[in-house]
Amino acid sequence: MRKWCSCGSEMKIRLSTVIYSGRVEIDNVPIYSCPACNRSEVFPEVKPDLTGLIGKLGAKPPRQSFSFSEWSEWADLLLQAGMDGKEPDAREVERLVEERVNALLDLHLLAQSLGDVGWQEELRSRLSQITRRTPNT
Ligand SMILES: [Zn+2]
Repeated sequence: MRKWCSCGSEMKIRLSTVIYSGRVEIDNVPIYSCPACNRSEVFPEVKPDLTGLIGKLGAKPPRQSFSFSEWSEWADLLLQAGMDGKEPDAREVERLVEERVNALLDLHLLAQSLGDVGWQEELRSRLSQITRRTPNT
């Protein structure tokens, strides 16, 4: 979870608001930001979800705002870990990730026993969001 900025400082994880197309406000997007030089970048694990979401919004989206935590397991987790505006606690996040994975696996078993294919698919995509790892992290 630790990441170093090109300036040599350690980057912090925080939740930020991303404005897309000047019209759509997406709150609680996890980003890394550097306290020394203010460089920031989107948390690598959520990039595919963010680009997927922006793809769905299209080129001329209506004015709106919503929380990224409705779309992203990571944003939801970090929000729960109390990371909005506070210093992140990597161990707390790891514990929450483990808990979330276990809960999703339990639900997946339940969905399987009920023969609910749509629900199984939804749970699998949520699981893949949170277990996805990108290189260099
Ligand atoms: Zn920096």
